[in-house]
Amino acid sequence: MRQKIVAGNWKMNTTIEEGMALAQSLLERSSEIPQRVTMVVAPPFTHLYAVNQQIRESKIKLGAQNCATHENGAYTGEVSAQMISSVGCQYVIIGHSERREYYGEEATILNKKIKQALSSGLIPIFCVGERLEQRESDHHFDVVETQLKEVVTILNPSDFSKVVIAYEPVWAIGTGKTATSEQAQEMHAFIRKVLAQHFGTLSAQTPILYGGSCKPSNATELFAQPDIDGGLIGGASLQAEDFLAIAKSFPLT
Ligand code: PEP
Repeated sequence: MRQKIVAGNWKMNTTIEEGMALAQSLLERSSEIPQRVTMVVAPPFTHLYAVNQQIRESKIKLGAQNCATHENGAYTGEVSAQMISSVGCQYVIIGHSERREYYGEEATILNKKIKQALSSGLIPIFCVGERLEQRESDHHFDVVETQLKEVVTILNPSDFSKVVIAYEPVWAIGTGKTATSEQAQEMHAFIRKVLAQHFGTLSAQTPILYGGSCKPSNATELFAQPDIDGGLIGGASLQAEDFLAIAKSFPLT
């Protein structure tokens, strides 16, 4: 059975005190996280060390929201995958639409980042997803296929087997507008088909998360879909109550 994951992308939110309080709330209720669900929190870089101190003995895992394209050196302001790993992270989000849109992160950059992540032993959560006009002009499958082919399908099978994919339609991120469970399932099945063309049966094990205004009220329906293995959660991961409720939204079997 595929791994079930809920990953909380805190984005550029919370002071260190607020972030630690949020981590503490999750920690205190971590026994509520179902056994087969992996919970990941991805706070800002400045919080990683402190949050790791809080959660490292628990079943909550730590992730970062980004990593540098290079291993080390004169890259002022950047944070390497190795540094991220050294503060206790196991996951790193790569290719989030906000990074693509506001920081010009395209395939060349994302290829470097995913390689850095993998060589530092981090699990990349690689994001794909179309913009509204691309869906409206019926190009959403092409867009997502290209995003996968530029980065993921050129990995070797061993590296690929470590990757988590997140399908995040850009029009649903932070907008309150969620893809319907049918739209999400259709795209997740398509993603798995593209991956299977390159990696065969390995793709059956790849967790594919949905992201985009996922909240307690829609998570149950989304997570009931056969190819949706969890969520990458933005806004709702900033409230422990909501994030835990989402983690408890998987079907029982
Ligand atoms: C995200 O940023 O990855 C995300 C899915 O955000 P939100 O849940 O707020 O739409």
